[in-house]
Amino acid sequence: MAGTPRTALTIAGSDSGGGAGIQADLRTFFACGVHGMTAITAVTVQNSLGVQGFTEIPPEVVAAQIKAVADDMGVDAAKTGMLATVEIIEAVAGTLDDVRIGRSAETPLVVDPVAASMTGHPLLREEALEAIRTELFPRATLITPNLDEVRLLTGVEVTDRDSQRRAADALLAFGSQYVLVKGGHLESDPDCVDLLSDGVQYIQLKGPRYQTKNTHGGGDTLASAITASLAQDLGVPDAVAEGKRFIERSVLDAYELGAGVGPVSPFW
Ligand code: PLP
Repeated sequence: MAGTPRTALTIAGSDSGGGAGIQADLRTFFACGVHGMTAITAVTVQNSLGVQGFTEIPPEVVAAQIKAVADDMGVDAAKTGMLATVEIIEAVAGTLDDVRIGRSAETPLVVDPVAASMTGHPLLREEALEAIRTELFPRATLITPNLDEVRLLTGVEVTDRDSQRRAADALLAFGSQYVLVKGGHLESDPDCVDLLSDGVQYIQLKGPRYQTKNTHGGGDTLASAITASLAQDLGVPDAVAEGKRFIERSVLDAYELGAGVGPVSPFW
């Protein structure tokens, strides 16, 4: 690549197994042609069998990482993943305003409301769910909950297209510009149908459902690919369509690693 690439910032947790979190975000940014930067919120101890525990980074250190890169290098788009605690969420929200990232500023913000790992280990303290709704959703250009997160955030159980649309409306009421209600966890559906909405348009994005147990890091990879496209000036619907193409290919090429759940692939 000639010249300086666009930049993307991920505010998220480290996965020692390299499949999800910061590690998935950075390799996705690289694969999508943007320069990746990180504000690490927590260090998880995990492998393919699951999360064994985590330690949070002090909120002021999370804030300082965001400020350091924004002040000097500039951020063309940002995303949040695992945020762990109310204190970290509040520090992130205040700092994003200071450096003018989020829907009221020029720089797009994707909020992936990570609550638990696919093996069920909590990655967010219970009381922090409310802070995600009130502190981060109103600042977000796009939020990307999966169906478990939709249930936790709204109480809506998505079982079909009607309830998926109800969930989108309930989530938009918290103040993000767009919501992407991901359908990947609706195993009864032969396709993977995601619903993107800004409350005016309801766009269904339909893709194949691949049979693989190796989907570790899939949510992070999708949100990062969307963020990379936003950093390159695509509008939200186009960025989401690009992100969906990226995650489909990553799931198709996911590989075995360890005795548990392998990661989606960046090698294609
Ligand atoms: N670990 C970290 C640091 C994460 O950010 C995430 C998801 O966002 C996970 C683990 C869980 O990933 P998965 O649900 O794909 O296992």
